[in-house]
Amino acid sequence: MWTSKNWIGGEWTVPAGESWAVHNPSNVSDIVGTVHLSGPAELRQAGVAAQQAQTSWAAMNLPQRGEQLLKIAALLEQQAAEVARLASLEMGKPVTEMTGEVMRGVHLLRYYAAEGVRTVGSVIPNSQAHTLQYTKRIPLGVVGVITPWNFPVAIPMWKIAPALICGNTVIWKPAEIASLTATRLAEIFAQADLPAGVLNMVIGKGAEIGSLLVEEGPLDGISFTGSTKTGMGVAGAAARRNIKYQVEMGGKNAAVILQDADLDLAIPAVLSGAFRSAGQKCTATSRIIVEQPIYSEVVRALQDAVPRLYLGEATDVQAYLGPVASEPQYQKVLSYVQVARRAEVLAEGSWDHVRPDTGHYLAPLVVTGVEAASPLVQEEIFGPVATLLPAANFDEAVELCNGTVYGLSASIFTRDLQKGLRFLDQADAGMLRVNQETAGVEYQAPFGGVKHSSSHSREQGAAALDFYSQVKTCAVYFG
Ligand code: NAD
Repeated sequence: MWTSKNWIGGEWTVPAGESWAVHNPSNVSDIVGTVHLSGPAELRQAGVAAQQAQTSWAAMNLPQRGEQLLKIAALLEQQAAEVARLASLEMGKPVTEMTGEVMRGVHLLRYYAAEGVRTVGSVIPNSQAHTLQYTKRIPLGVVGVITPWNFPVAIPMWKIAPALICGNTVIWKPAEIASLTATRLAEIFAQADLPAGVLNMVIGKGAEIGSLLVEEGPLDGISFTGSTKTGMGVAGAAARRNIKYQVEMGGKNAAVILQDADLDLAIPAVLSGAFRSAGQKCTATSRIIVEQPIYSEVVRALQDAVPRLYLGEATDVQAYLGPVASEPQYQKVLSYVQVARRAEVLAEGSWDHVRPDTGHYLAPLVVTGVEAASPLVQEEIFGPVATLLPAANFDEAVELCNGTVYGLSASIFTRDLQKGLRFLDQADAGMLRVNQETAGVEYQAPFGGVKHSSSHSREQGAAALDFYSQVKTCAVYFG
């Protein structure tokens, strides 16, 4: 049995307030552990600890901060199997995928550790002679980090690692339903002897502790990932306080299959984008747009493949997808499944490896015959439901692709270089791919969306360093 704890100022505490039992989404009769929710007092303590630690953490030189991240990376790698298993039990992501995610966390830590010895500014000519003009980066100060449950390791790491290397201290509010995994991660930071107060983790409800952190926390910056509705509120509050913010939010991502596509490449990529992690990725393929001449062929291929996808318990190494993460998530996705069942169901997953009543399982579903205004086409479902949309030609496919308020990721499958390149220009999304699935990130490349998917900022890669620091322009006259 696992128990959530707060890690504040280097001390472990269990808040005395409300608590709840965590049920394994693969088998809801199993209790995985207990989550203890914090109140405002714990958040205030975290604020004081983060402020007190910031000056000395920023004064440490960059390679020393990098060494700290390398130590955390080594410990996370050693404990990867256990962390992955706990996350699978807590939020239902299949353990093979979860292990890959933990290793992504290791690579993110190593990547940002190396940033500790890279260039931090540039020398710029000055209009006056005998003047050295240059820029340098300085930390923001105290940064708030609010994370969702669907990538319980990678997203915290892609925020906390660059925040720390830039010299900030952090107050981290993880998602409620990833609190046990978050506690386990914080333990690894503690094992690495990170100085007290550099990372402070406070477990609590988003609407209470998350909101209080954004509204009143002693923050110089806030990085949020989650739903568009919450993210817009976070952005508004941060703007009112004039603190630096980035919000990465929802998606309604499309994969376009043109008539010249290699279907042996396109079909597995579309299935993976739509159904891995039970469709609970911000970059999941939610709409499959198919050029008319190959529409029937694509339908047949999906009808052949979808029933063979292995829906299993998250700890089953063969599982292609597991349950959805929680009871509320199940109810939300189920409401879309009910809408989808009123449309034309084209393909449906099988129940060969699990019983529907044991966990929060939903079989993969592909539907068609819906209007462009349908919630199935416009709203983020965040579950294993994909909608097939026929398009008369390339132009109509792009129009459909762009026809939502979201703009996170989009793909096209084609052998036509010209159309592939035109798509990269015309599709409204921050992450664009030709002949690859919509889901997936590269930690060394900038990540983020356009429209209602993002504050137009970018995470990961060198872009993260821009967010977690501010630039000072300095001039020294020596004539
Ligand atoms: P959510 O918005 O419900 O919660 C995200 C985080 O915000 C949680 O830690 C939650 O406790 C906290 N929170 C909730 N209300 C808050 C408030 N009023 N003030 C401050 N914090 C608050 O999202 P979720 O259900 O945890 O995650 C799923 C969503 O995240 C999906 O929309 C998905 O697309 C999105 N997501 C986006 C990306 C991306 O990089 N664009 C990546 C992963 C997930």
